[in-house]
Amino acid sequence: MASLQPVRGTHDLLPEAMRAHRRVIETAREVAERYGFDEMATPIFEFTDVFRRTLGDTSDIVTKEMYTFTDKGGDELTLRPENTAGVARCFISEGLAQDVPLKVFCGGPMFRHERPQKGRLRQFHQIDIEIIGVPGPQADVEVIAAGAAILKALGIGDLTALQLNTLGDAESRGKFRDVLVAYFNDHLNDLSEDSRDRLERNPLRILDSKDEGDRKIVAGAPDYADHLNQESADFFAGVTGGLDALDIAYTLDPKLVRGLDYYTHTAFEFTTTELGAQDAVMAGGRYDGLIGTMGGPETPGVGWAAGVERLVMLCGDPPPARRPVALIPIGEAAEAVALELSEALRAAGNRIDLGYGGNLNRRMKRANKIAAAAAVLIGEDELQRDVATVRDMETGEQEEVALAALEDHLARYR
Ligand code: ATP
Ligand code: MG
Repeated sequence: MASLQPVRGTHDLLPEAMRAHRRVIETAREVAERYGFDEMATPIFEFTDVFRRTLGDTSDIVTKEMYTFTDKGGDELTLRPENTAGVARCFISEGLAQDVPLKVFCGGPMFRHERPQKGRLRQFHQIDIEIIGVPGPQADVEVIAAGAAILKALGIGDLTALQLNTLGDAESRGKFRDVLVAYFNDHLNDLSEDSRDRLERNPLRILDSKDEGDRKIVAGAPDYADHLNQESADFFAGVTGGLDALDIAYTLDPKLVRGLDYYTHTAFEFTTTELGAQDAVMAGGRYDGLIGTMGGPETPGVGWAAGVERLVMLCGDPPPARRPVALIPIGEAAEAVALELSEALRAAGNRIDLGYGGNLNRRMKRANKIAAAAAVLIGEDELQRDVATVRDMETGEQEEVALAALEDHLARYR
């Protein structure tokens, strides 16, 4: 039955995959905390307008990728395709303007209706960090440094490279836009239909086109760097200077633009050559226009989002599960004792597997299968003497331990 398949582009996280997933999130959370970011979460769905207004009517996300529905009360809602718009909405509706600078870390599922392939899903997960309310380039440096530190803590710092660009402030961006339109108009006939469409509505986005033909034209396009006003150039010098001071390597990529309308100044991506076409693992930039665009007080912001599934693929083998201790009672009386014992040992911090039945042989097999660190055998003979036989599954050594001393003895397996 087709409906018993997972929906295309979604995936189950079975325990092993979940461990890999969790390692990424927990590592990121821990590093982000050291940089002063507090975790928060916004709802998984918002009014559609939250995304339509912030991502822009012409973005791929809004035109093609959103999971939008009308709920039973008639509200138009959308499953979040990214997190920044929700955080910005929250900043406004919760009245957080007094709390700037606000530094937050978030993580969770995102939804985009795109063509599923390796590293590209319809329900995927992101981690992201944002600094809201800091106009200067120190914040850009800090979010990039935190991102680099997370990649390093995950052991994949060497598999990724930082690409950096600036879009300049609104004035520079406007001027550059005119230059760009003139250039693309000269190549109108060779542009893809999508890009011709973009030329009228959002020419900067052509720089981001994935079409082969477009890319050739884009390669010869004018560079942002030549059209920055002094203020924007100074700002960017602040960013590169900070990164240099921290020894964070980057490559200037004058064609790097973020797909979203509200970005100004810094744009960056950590990319990898390990994942084929899905080469971006962490992407972000400055979004000084976002909160004002949404109707909130003009407030600058900068941040990034990273795809958890892509990070997981780079990280390789998942960490092993925590090894349990198998409690193996033989006989009814021992079963009763083991039940209470398991509760006490769990309370003391051990991971206890209490088999549900079967003879000694079957239970030992299970202990092996679940990679138990130790097996605690309690047979009738042991019970009479108030002891258990503890077998270390690694060394094969066995010893008798008084039941009263078991908790202490098993501390080594916690
Ligand atoms: P791409 O160019 O790969 O489509 P994007 O520019 O749409 O990426 P962002 O909106 O910047 O991506 O999202 C940040 C990160 O989230 C990406 O760098 C990527 O790691 C991850 N990501 C985005 N879309 C998907 C998806 N459909 N499946 C899995 N991960 C994704
Ligand atoms: Mg995309």
